Amino acid sequence: RRVMEQQRALELHARSLELTVQERTRELVAANEAKDEFLSMASHELKTPLSCLKGMTQLLHRRLERSGSPEVTNLASMENSIRRMEVLVNDLLSISFIETGMLTLHRQVTNMPELCRRLIDEYLAGTNPPPVVKLEVPAEPLEMDVDVERMGQVIINLLSNARKYSPANAPIYLSLKCEKQECVIAVRDTGVGIPAEVIPHIFERFYRVPSIEVQTGSSIGLGLGLYISQQIIERHGGYIEVVSAPGQGSTFSVRLPLNVGSVKDAVKLAPSS
Ligand code: ADP
Repeated sequence: RRVMEQQRALELHARSLELTVQERTRELVAANEAKDEFLSMASHELKTPLSCLKGMTQLLHRRLERSGSPEVTNLASMENSIRRMEVLVNDLLSISFIETGMLTLHRQVTNMPELCRRLIDEYLAGTNPPPVVKLEVPAEPLEMDVDVERMGQVIINLLSNARKYSPANAPIYLSLKCEKQECVIAVRDTGVGIPAEVIPHIFERFYRVPSIEVQTGSSIGLGLGLYISQQIIERHGGYIEVVSAPGQGSTFSVRLPLNVGSVKDAVKLAPSS
């Protein structure tokens, strides 16, 4: 009888534990959903006033430029701050899309060398002072079925990282070539480089190398760019890799299968951490 009582007590205990786990799981799922909803709402809400601010500043810039006013130079730091905020808000929006499984690709046949040239022009026009970017792309067209906006986001992110983590005036190299069955887009810099032991972490959400921050004085960034880039590239059926040495610089290579159009983007990627 005692054994039976003990068994009964154990069963009750197990049942109560099971209920606690279920309850905790429900709470965590609800908290996670609330976080996703907040992220989505906050990033959307921030985007609207920021676009307004950007539009007004552009207008003011044109007016001051037309009237030959020296005041136009005072706008530069404001324009830079707006651009930085835009990157942060767009990163939050992208994260929100990834977390809620809404990051879908809108593919179109794209001439990749031309896309690289256009992105460089866009990037240089929006960076003050503009860095030196050396471009090496084939003269003949190379067509790929990619999401132009998202692929542009990846390349711009790699270019701005290359600039952020390099001394001022150091050149940045962007190249595009076909290797085996892959289209390889590489962004190389001669900057601070990344210690080998942290390389496995740089594609994680919110990860930043603390010592690099000190070296370059760059505190801008949430540690989201590479995570987002990796998600976008994997959606295209490709992958991203890095070769880096402290003090010598880094090369980030995006490798896309040449038959990228045949890879279905239905693969839902779970967040890596
Ligand atoms: P962040 O907004 O911090 O730049 P990323 O996800 O783009 O976020 O990069 C993660 C971290 O990887 C950075 O904080 C930086 O420490 C390191 N990193 C990325 N690109 C480079 C680079 N080109 N050179 C050196 N370190 C880099």
